[in-house]
Amino acid sequence: MEDLGLTPEQIQCLMEAVSTGDINSALACGVSLEVLLQLVEIFTSGGGGNMDAMKDPATGGVAAWDTDRYLNIWVCDLNGENPAVGLLLGFAYPPADLPNWPAGSNGTAATDGVVIDYLSFGNNTPNTTPLQPFADDGRTAVHEVGHYLGLRHIWGDGDCTQDDGIDDTPDADAQTDATAGCDPSQNTCTEATDPQLPDMYENYMDYSSDECQNLFLRQQADLIRSVLIPAQVCCGKIR
Ligand SMILES: [Zn+2]
Repeated sequence: MEDLGLTPEQIQCLMEAVSTGDINSALACGVSLEVLLQLVEIFTSGGGGNMDAMKDPATGGVAAWDTDRYLNIWVCDLNGENPAVGLLLGFAYPPADLPNWPAGSNGTAATDGVVIDYLSFGNNTPNTTPLQPFADDGRTAVHEVGHYLGLRHIWGDGDCTQDDGIDDTPDADAQTDATAGCDPSQNTCTEATDPQLPDMYENYMDYSSDECQNLFLRQQADLIRSVLIPAQVCCGKIR
């Protein structure tokens, strides 16, 4: 959490908010919505535990279709069961053994896929959470399927010294603040060579407001194809 630039006081405040299950108290810790979302994704990225309850009939969920053949998307109430992180939009497991992800980030045959909170699915939802109107245009599904197909956040989940493992995404020091709108002047990192490129709030793998997002870059598409096509060619199935 300190890597996200949080102060010890903010960390203590967040821990207390989690213990009370009060979303508003978490927001009162002086932490941006985007950092809060990043924390949630970090907490859920390892998988297992209650976060995958929707995938198991024994815990009220629905078992996955064959994850070697299908992309499973569970749409459910993520936050009713987990009010302390009431801003969780969704999460996904990336494929195994990709160079731009830490080892062990992937799910299993039972958990592989995408999970999206019903309030953030599609663009005709009664989203009245604090995230409205930042997550009501259906971009959550695009973002999470991007993770499922191997893409990381364009800021590399770190500062300007880290990137997403894809050359043509401009460097960014952090995620775009969804509350700041679509600001073309934002440029948080100095590129090694000119031209200097602004942060790409248009990218689906940023945390910008849904209304700002409209593209993947060519090399992001190449990585997605590299995940899909070899499996299709060599094994006759989609991973
Ligand atoms: Zn994400």
